Formats: sequence, structure tokens, C-alpha cells
Amino acid sequence: MFRSATLKLTAWYLLIIMLISITFSVVIYNVSSTELNRPLTGVINGQQRMTFNLDEFEANRRVLVSESRERLVLNLVIVNLVTLALGGGASYLLARRTLRPIQEAMDTQGRFTSDASHELRTPLAAMQSEIEVALRDKDVTKSQMKTLLKSNLEEVHKLRGLSDRLLQLTSEKHISLEPTSLEEVAIAATNQMITAAQAKQISIDNTVSDITVQGNADYLADLLDILLDNAIKYSPPETTVTLSTEQHGRHVYLSVADHGVGIKETDQQHIFDRFYRADTSRSKTAAPGYGLGLPIAQRIAELHGGSIDVESTRGKGSEFTVKIPVA
Ligand code: ADP
Repeated sequence: MFRSATLKLTAWYLLIIMLISITFSVVIYNVSSTELNRPLTGVINGQQRMTFNLDEFEANRRVLVSESRERLVLNLVIVNLVTLALGGGASYLLARRTLRPIQEAMDTQGRFTSDASHELRTPLAAMQSEIEVALRDKDVTKSQMKTLLKSNLEEVHKLRGLSDRLLQLTSEKHISLEPTSLEEVAIAATNQMITAAQAKQISIDNTVSDITVQGNADYLADLLDILLDNAIKYSPPETTVTLSTEQHGRHVYLSVADHGVGIKETDQQHIFDRFYRADTSRSKTAAPGYGLGLPIAQRIAELHGGSIDVESTRGKGSEFTVKIPVA
């Protein structure tokens, strides 16, 4: 599809270039012809007329003019042919360049749709097979039905979580920003995560200072939830997760550090891609998730005019740092 679009755009660019080139050639030809055809009478005065034969001169001149005109046409044809060849190449490169961002956006969209469908299929398939087995069994008991419904409900929760995440990723291009206390957001986020942390005997050390940023409290809370949730998920029991801030100039650096499994260097460049999960999270630790948390965190940071970075060492831990402008 993109090949034919590129060729069509190339043809349009080339058509424009050739129209300009041919128009200029016609103008140059007409102006030059008019100049060459200017009669000598009027230029030569009466005395000069007597000293040489004007008719003979005029005849020679006409031959010369006609030769010059032929040469001019030939040169203009050559110039147009060269323009056609060079313009064709340049138009193709330009067309590819113009269409590349659209192609990349469409590829990303396609990948996103197929990844999302894949993630949606898994819980749906699990629910479907459980229900089918239960329906085939004529002697199914009430308690078995309850177990089935419980398991189905778990899948429904997963589906809901996934659709919430997908919505978060695709909705709202702009958010309202106002002076927001990072300390308050951090305390609320820590409180929200305390149960999950206690379940693994992980302590959360919150040292966030009273800094006011230009932000949106709900979105910043979501961002911290994601980072804290990951820090807890990917840390062994009885470790500490630290939340801290530093201010440099007009920016505040909010960090969430853990002493968990860490992230391989090759994975670090992909963890902000949608649906990316490092192998360790898929298999060994089997931590639940869809690989959508960090892309959402990155989007929230960018909506605040900031960015997010990671520093991590395998087996030692990770530190995610969010940079946001102060109010
Ligand atoms: P999810 O946690 O749902 O898989 P994320 O987008 O939040 O998705 O994270 C992407 C991947 O980055 C995770 O699968 C995990 O491999 C890695 N990761 C994120 N945070 C941490 C962390 N604190 N420690 C180790 N690995 C992490």
C-alpha cells in the first residue's frame, strides 16, 4: 500500500517539477527568440549602410539565428531531460520521507491493536473453556459452579484492568496542570501501596520533600502507583523501596528505587514500549502485568512537560527517575 502511495506522490512531485521546468524553458525560448529576431535596421545608421551590404549581412544573420535557435532548443531539451532524471530521484526520496512518519504511525497502531487483541484473548479464552467444560458436565454441583464463577470473576477483573490501562494510554492529549504538592501525592500513593508492600514485608521509605510542581495530582498519583507497584512486584521480600526527590534549577527529580531483580541492559531500552515485558517478568517471577505500566508512566511524565529514565543493575535493583518542571 505504501509502495503505491510513494509512487503516486513521486509522480505528483515530478509533475510539478516538470511543469515548472517546461514553463521556464518556454519562457527562455520565447525571450531568446525575440532577442535574436530583433531587426538590424534602426541599429545601423545611414552612413554605415553605405559601407556594407545590409541584405547579405541580414541573410547570414538569419542562418546564424536559426542555428542558434536549434542549439537553444537542444540545450533546453537536455536541461529538461536532466531535470526529469534528477527530479525523479529527488521526488522519490522526498515522497518516501514524507510518508515515513505516517507509515511508522500506522505500523505502531497495527502492532498496538494486535498486541491488545492478544492480551484480551488470553483471559477470554480461559473463561470460555471453563464455561464450556462446566456446561458439558451434567452433574456439576453448586460449589463447583461457585468456583467457576470466582475464577471467571478474576479474569473479568484482569480484563477490566487491561481495558482501563488501554484507555489511559489512548485518551486525553492534554491535561489540566496546576500547582500540586508532590509530598501530598507521594503520601497518598504510599498509603495506597502499603497493603501490597506489607504482604511481601517490603517497607516503603518516603522522603519526598514539600515541593510544588506544575502538575495534575490524579495523574501524578497514577504515575507513582505504577512505579511503586513495579518496585514491589519485582523486589524480593524484606527489602526497602525508597521514594525521594531532588531539585535542580527549574526541575524536580522524583525517584523510586528498589533492591529488586533489576533490568538487563538490553531490556532497558524497550521497557517503555507498549506491551513489552522482560523475560524474567513473564516466566521466572511470573509477576502479573501487561507491559503497559511504564508506557503510561512515560506518557504522564511527558504530559507534564517532563521525562522518565531508568538506571538498573541486574540482581541489584532499579531506580526510576521522573523529571518534572517546578511550579
Ligand atoms: P508490567 O509490570 O505490567 O509487566 P511495565 O510496563 O510496568 O509492565 O514494565 C515493563 C517491564 O519492565 C516489566 O515487565 C519488567 O520486566 C520491567 N520492570 C519494570 N519495573 C521494574 C522494576 N522496578 N524492577 C525490575 N524490572 C522492572
